[in-house]
Amino acid sequence: MSVCRAPPLSVNSKVRTAVKTDIRSLQFPELEEQVRELGLADYRARQIVDWLYKKRAQSFDEMTNLPQEVRARLAERFTFDKIDVARVLGSRDTTRKFLFQLADSNLIESVLIPASPALYGSRSDRRTICVSTQVGCAYGCKFCASGLEGFSRNLRPNEIVDQIIAVERATGEKVDNIVFMGMGEPLANLENVMGAIRIINAPWGLGIGARHITVSTSGLAPQIRQLADEQLQIRLAISLHGATDEVRNQIMPINRRYNLETLLAACEYYASRKKQRLTFEYILIANVNDSPDQARRLGRIARRLGAKVNLIPYNTVEGLPWSRPSREQQEQFVSILREAGVAATLRREKGHDIDAACGQLRLQTKRELQPAAS
Ligand code: SAH
Ligand code: SF4
Repeated sequence: MSVCRAPPLSVNSKVRTAVKTDIRSLQFPELEEQVRELGLADYRARQIVDWLYKKRAQSFDEMTNLPQEVRARLAERFTFDKIDVARVLGSRDTTRKFLFQLADSNLIESVLIPASPALYGSRSDRRTICVSTQVGCAYGCKFCASGLEGFSRNLRPNEIVDQIIAVERATGEKVDNIVFMGMGEPLANLENVMGAIRIINAPWGLGIGARHITVSTSGLAPQIRQLADEQLQIRLAISLHGATDEVRNQIMPINRRYNLETLLAACEYYASRKKQRLTFEYILIANVNDSPDQARRLGRIARRLGAKVNLIPYNTVEGLPWSRPSREQQEQFVSILREAGVAATLRREKGHDIDAACGQLRLQTKRELQPAAS
């Protein structure tokens, strides 16, 4: 069922059983339609989106150029959920991590990464936010904190967009690069993620260019093809983490559903439809995927697809046995790729000290809140 659709209008609000839509999950044409059905003048839709995305109102009551009665009718029809900052780690000029509590008390996290050169194809001076798309994750990669506690639910478009708005409000900074690399698998929540991306990209919304939006996936091949057919020129990053089925099968259960050959065929299709180059994310985990043989194979794959490689030294997760290779080993891996003619970067994990990788702050907070006995 689409979450972007409001409940049927002919139904009396007293007997309406459908869950109300959040007003910030609507696209502009949908809002225009709703405004018309409420019997309001067309220009009201424009006033409402200005309140939502330009003036960043947090309630209908703030929309002071709408008559009180109109605000009341909007409040009757739509929800206007807020996400609350539950915890912030880090400080200005470093990576900052935000833990948010959703209206239903679930916890999600976003990370604000300060300007750094050439992260995901962007120029320097860009402030990047890493957003979550689900509460938890069903894909269970062996190294990842987000997968540890399983999957709770998909985030709705407004809950995705609101992470950006809330971080900008909390920091007073403007975000200009978005990566879908927080908690969750974006392509398993594709409809809501695309709804959020349209709002982020639209001139009436946040107005951030598609080339400054990167979606990351662990390898859902059919959805990669679906994304390839979308008009928007957003960037795609593939979490490869292994250059053979043998290595991927060990750490990423998704590889048993879509093996490397199937995944790479979908990537080839994507590359043929888009102007932007693909990025392969590759976490370096000691004695798992960091051998010279894996580097050579990864080089061949990246060359074939004209993709860049982003190497990330593994961020340790409490309770998991994995660790990052030595600095020398990391350097050796990157030089094999470069010698093969691949554009490869080795990321010094900026947020290492504050557990910046996916799902870690939420996990840590939940562990602190739960007594050891549970
Ligand atoms: N589910 C999507 C997007 C969220 S994960 C995906 O898997 O691509 C975002 C990135 O963080 C992925 O590349 C993921 O493999 C990586 N990641 C997860 N845990 C990590 C850790 N402990 N250290 C470093 N990177 C990690
Ligand atoms: Fe899910 Fe991505 Fe973590 Fe894998 S790496 S468990 S797909 S969030």
